[in-house]
Amino acid sequence: MKNAGAGRKKVSGGCLCGAVRYEATVAPAGAAYCHCRMCQRSVGNVFGAFAGFPVASFKFTRGRPKRYRSSPIAWRGFCARCGSPLTCESTEHAENILVTIGSLDDPGQAAPQAHWGIESQVKWYKPADKLPRHKTVEDARVRPVAAKVRAGKPLAARNR
Ligand SMILES: [Zn+2]
Ligand SMILES: [Zn+2]
Repeated sequence: MKNAGAGRKKVSGGCLCGAVRYEATVAPAGAAYCHCRMCQRSVGNVFGAFAGFPVASFKFTRGRPKRYRSSPIAWRGFCARCGSPLTCESTEHAENILVTIGSLDDPGQAAPQAHWGIESQVKWYKPADKLPRHKTVEDARVRPVAAKVRAGKPLAARNR
């Protein structure tokens, strides 16, 4: 993904109640909308919008999100006190941590560059932008895992 940040180096954010706070030392490595059903359920809305940061540049500065394992390859982090959706972490993209753009202190710092999960995009929502649109299976790293899950095959053990 291309650099989505507008030149600012320090990025911070947190949940609605302030119990969980985070910081990144670099601008987002990328940002995207995701319309997949798991993102829809997880954020309780018709799409998720996430900014990605290299894990080495990212840290929690107050509290920690509670994590829910939403699939064999992903965890969703949220504030256990106020419920704000905060993170999505995937074994297939382990170099980045995704944070909800709405949890950034300045959500304008991360402009989505693509729509993912369009197989589940709600039919009454038609974004007018010209951003590229992808189905979840177009993610080359997720596709083999999704095929295994569909076939009921066990996934390699991972210890996160
Ligand atoms: Zn909170
Ligand atoms: Zn999604």
